[in-house]
Amino acid sequence: MNVSRRGFLAGGAACAAGAAWFCPSAGADEPADAGDQGQTASGPAQLKLSSQLGIIPGKDLAEKLANMERWGFDAVELDGDIVGHEKKYEDAIKETNLKCSAICWGSHKGALVSDIAEERKAGVEALKKVLTSAGALGSTGVIYVPAFNSDTKRTNQEIRKTLLDIMPAIGDHAVKAGTRVILEPLNRKEAFFLRQVADAASIARDCESPGICVMGDFFHMTIEETSDLGAFISGGSRVHHVHLASRTRHLPGQDERQFIEGFRGLKQIGYQDYCSFECSVNGNPKVEIPKSMAFLRQQWAKA
Ligand code: MG
Repeated sequence: MNVSRRGFLAGGAACAAGAAWFCPSAGADEPADAGDQGQTASGPAQLKLSSQLGIIPGKDLAEKLANMERWGFDAVELDGDIVGHEKKYEDAIKETNLKCSAICWGSHKGALVSDIAEERKAGVEALKKVLTSAGALGSTGVIYVPAFNSDTKRTNQEIRKTLLDIMPAIGDHAVKAGTRVILEPLNRKEAFFLRQVADAASIARDCESPGICVMGDFFHMTIEETSDLGAFISGGSRVHHVHLASRTRHLPGQDERQFIEGFRGLKQIGYQDYCSFECSVNGNPKVEIPKSMAFLRQQWAKA
């Protein structure tokens, strides 16, 4: 593992609460390399499954986590409401073999890339707070979307410039907290800015901070990427989370969407973090979720 540049990086992500927006999960026990080359890895890639809590049956957090553990999940992806509730989540997760993958935080209404300085400042502080909490939970990173379409009237170039101004310091904060910012590309119906894994990786590269990383979401990738394999290779060592969903944003395996090519890309980059359900369920979750997990393991074996 190359620990050059600003040194060690842990991991974590959060998804903000957007109405129709889901977040992925991440979560590595070992921080992966955060260098520029995008190809280093700390061992053979593994398929480690995670899920957001929304689709998991259970009357409370403990019952949901118990179901996840019983079905063979490796980690849970939490929402961005962890600030001030760290102990609740930490205590519940500790009762299981699960880890905390990413934190799904979102865009904070585009505040961080606003053209109003006060809004930017408030957004930066909010992200730093959730990064601190994510680090305390051992999360692989906080999932961040710069702007949904409804959040901004600024141009692509203006948003990118603002990101490069603010993100290096946030990345440093993330590294100190033991986690990461994870940029999530969406599809054009949700965000005109940041739609491809390669674009996210170029922003992370230009930020020159190991605390700024990227992810891929198979649902958005269906719309925006010409190659799942190429997308993940473009992200390289900066990829620290993956969201799993079918073409129709249901459980993997519930429509024709295939994952073999993408998994081949993850294997090629030595991916060490989590792949996390961010989708709806057709049918009974208690039947369909384990079935989807088996489908994904078959796809991974074929990749
Ligand atoms: Mg997503």
